[in-house]
Amino acid sequence: MDLFIDDTTLRDGEQTAGVVFTNEEKVRIAQMLDEVGVHEIEAGIPAMGGDEMAAIRSIIALGLRARILTWNRAVISDIDASLRCGSQAVALSIPVSDIHIEHRLGQSRGWVLESVRRATRYAKSHDLYVSVNAEDASRAAPDFLGLFAQNAREAGADRLRYCDTVGVLEPFRTYEVIRRLIEEVGIDIEMHTHNDFGMATANAIAGIKAGAKYVNTTVNGLGERAGNASLAEVVMALKHIEKIDPGIDTTRLCTVSRYVAEVTQRPLPVSTPITGDNIFAHESGIHADGVLKYPATYEAFSPEEVGLERRILVGKHSGSNTIHFKFANEFGIELPDDLAREILARARALAVKRKRALFSKELALIYLEVCKERCLDLPPLKISG
Ligand code: MN
Repeated sequence: MDLFIDDTTLRDGEQTAGVVFTNEEKVRIAQMLDEVGVHEIEAGIPAMGGDEMAAIRSIIALGLRARILTWNRAVISDIDASLRCGSQAVALSIPVSDIHIEHRLGQSRGWVLESVRRATRYAKSHDLYVSVNAEDASRAAPDFLGLFAQNAREAGADRLRYCDTVGVLEPFRTYEVIRRLIEEVGIDIEMHTHNDFGMATANAIAGIKAGAKYVNTTVNGLGERAGNASLAEVVMALKHIEKIDPGIDTTRLCTVSRYVAEVTQRPLPVSTPITGDNIFAHESGIHADGVLKYPATYEAFSPEEVGLERRILVGKHSGSNTIHFKFANEFGIELPDDLAREILARARALAVKRKRALFSKELALIYLEVCKERCLDLPPLKISG
């Protein structure tokens, strides 16, 4: 199955309120996305001019494997700015819902159709690859959206970006509307989903199941308000849930995720799907015991696959198997059962007192304390790291 990922971290991601990349960071992110293997990178908005235009030129000059797209309103002057950057592929955006057409633009549906035809023909006459972006498609009148898609296709658009601009879709409806659009118009569809109700990734996947061949993502789900569909989530859900291999080097997902978190000054919540710190951290006795015996018991995929490491934490919910494992693995000591139980009891109590999992050093101190009390002469700890 041919499926193409168009990552828009550098365009929709940077539109996040309060986020700005330096030009060097934009170039670095483009390189990292190319190494990850995304098929397209939406690099920015040439019509903004200045730094943005310079960054886009630098990214195009890298000669990456990924196709570089530039974002435009469906107006000639924006397309000219893209051409001046050396762009060979453009996103042409125009709203299709009456909410936007009337209340934001003060225009008519007829004006929208005329604009998209004119802009698309102009871009095609300059040999540009064209993705026509139907902004706010999920709140557009279905008949008008069909007519719009038809007009875009007849004017030469290569694909239609279906934008759930305010994130109001759910997966079942997404599947129906995308399937109908493909049947009625016969144009390639690109999913662009927002996360306002926490369903951006689910809706992107639903669109792909309905036949969409292109999907927009951003690193860490960066984007306006609640953000866009996350690159790592979409890639890993396709691979593990849908059994579709999008040809991505998943071992690099963590590196790009951490880099973007750092330069946007938006630290990842530890529970962030796929790349968060806690995704391979196990504390509860039952879970840690299961994972130590057979990782698939409590892990949907392996940490190595995304560039992470498994961690077994000692805390309030730990079991004695964790204590045995920790001492054998980190300190090189095979603990007798009664000693492990005693250490576990004290470790749990300390975790409650400190309201967190314990550091290895704290565990070592408990061990020394117990040995001293019992006048035991046990082998010394080999504390590494
Ligand atoms: Mn968007």
